[in-house]
Amino acid sequence: MASKSNGGRQAAPPHDFFQKLASGIPGVLFTYWLSADGTSHRYPFVSDQIQKLFGVPPALLNENADVVFSVIHPEDVPGVGESILESAKNLTPWIYQARLKLKSGEFHWFEAHSEPERQPDGSTLWYGQFHDIQRYKVLEQSLRDSEAEFSFQAGFQNLIARLSTEFINLGFGTIDECIDELLLSIGRFFQVDRAYLYAFSDGYDLMSNTHEWCAVGVPSLKDSQKAVPIGEFYWWRTQIDAMVERNQVVFIEDVDRLPDDAVLERALLQEQGVSSMFCVPIRIRGRVTGFFGVDSLRKRDWRTDQGDLLIIVSGLLSGALERHRLEEELLSQSILDPLTGLHNRRYLIPRLQELLARSNRQGEPFALAMFDIDHFKKINDSVGHLGGDFILQGFAELLRQHTRTTDVISRFGGEEFLVVFAGVDASDAKVLVMRVLEAVRKESFIYNGHALPLTASAGVIGVGELTGQPVTPDLMIDHADHRLYLAKQRGRDCVIDGLGI
Ligand code: GH3
Ligand code: MG
Ligand code: MG
Repeated sequence: MASKSNGGRQAAPPHDFFQKLASGIPGVLFTYWLSADGTSHRYPFVSDQIQKLFGVPPALLNENADVVFSVIHPEDVPGVGESILESAKNLTPWIYQARLKLKSGEFHWFEAHSEPERQPDGSTLWYGQFHDIQRYKVLEQSLRDSEAEFSFQAGFQNLIARLSTEFINLGFGTIDECIDELLLSIGRFFQVDRAYLYAFSDGYDLMSNTHEWCAVGVPSLKDSQKAVPIGEFYWWRTQIDAMVERNQVVFIEDVDRLPDDAVLERALLQEQGVSSMFCVPIRIRGRVTGFFGVDSLRKRDWRTDQGDLLIIVSGLLSGALERHRLEEELLSQSILDPLTGLHNRRYLIPRLQELLARSNRQGEPFALAMFDIDHFKKINDSVGHLGGDFILQGFAELLRQHTRTTDVISRFGGEEFLVVFAGVDASDAKVLVMRVLEAVRKESFIYNGHALPLTASAGVIGVGELTGQPVTPDLMIDHADHRLYLAKQRGRDCVIDGLGI
């Protein structure tokens, strides 16, 4: 029997057999041979799929493997070469992923698995297959993208939650610090170069940068952006109008591609090195009062939802600013006298305490004067209570005119006023008070056609006069009040100090 010597079945199956076997496999079966010196290589066997996938005839590869290397993506060529040499050296399986160019010209990811076998002449022969893993790569990428997206969203939500807690917990006076912190956090999170806040003037004709964060090495624009006239920039004006009227965001993706009517804006932004920017209006009580924005100095891809995310940020800022304004209003209502607009006692006492502390520490002088309008009842009696109010307002105005901004003027009671003269002793303060009294005397108050001559009396005390006892605001006020009483006794329209004159 013919099969006797080799058993028939042991004879190498014909080439056709392997081609048929391989035809049902989606990948490519191969044997790959590399000479011992690594200078020549070929595919002794490669299934016909190679022709279908890459348009390369197997017969060509039986002679030389170079053609297959020419379909490998250029970036992957070095890795393929190195991994084959490594597998040959250590006789470890050759498993590798690389992009190959299909007949269509499109690159797909392939994965190869093969086992090396050393040949008697020192060359190496691999037995294996490679197949298209593009679908898995795409899936893997989309998984990675969605993971990245998820962590971005979670990061953004955390950031907003943290910032809003900070805004809610802020005390008076720290709103600016909170805004600076927000700009820094948002700027870093979105990897921009600048984040800022602008305020519009009431008529929307000027805009001023109020807060700014700049990435390291990025120049600040804040100081040059004060009371910038918007009208000079036609295109920007239309953008501001859209912001104000329709709450629109301004998005400049590429400054170089701004429209022709934005030629000034383009030049300015180019000068500032800005490549793209996003601005979102800030609304307080339904009115656009400014905008929040970010700049990028390099061209970049913006997320498609970038506008929505920045609108959330501007919503947070708007809410915080609105709350802050409300708090300031409430605060000023509680410390301001509504009739004269001067501070009231509630504001005065803590200021006096601060001045006392400073004077104790640094010996800085200050003086206190208490004024009382003379015969005020008569004014009320002659021109009525409203006429009296008119006089009180006029008197307050005279006090404002004759004091410095560092002095504290307050309405202490009905027609009694307390003035704290900062940085002066009692004798200097007395001169200042006499000037006020003179101004009152000389002022012609006319109410409803009635001329109302007016005088006032005052008592003054300097902080340095009270020694040997702990000085409190009440103690100083009592002394000033007593001296005022003495001035009334003396005949009014005069001031009494520690010397009794
Ligand atoms: P004197 O020179 O001794 O100070 O006489 P006077 O009439 O000013 O006396 P006094 O200081 O006791 O009177 C204060 C008056 O001021 C009494 C009160 O009716 C009036 N008054 C207090 N608050 C107001 C106010 O808000 N508006 C008006 N119109 N009058 C007020
Ligand atoms: Mg009086
Ligand atoms: Mg009085």
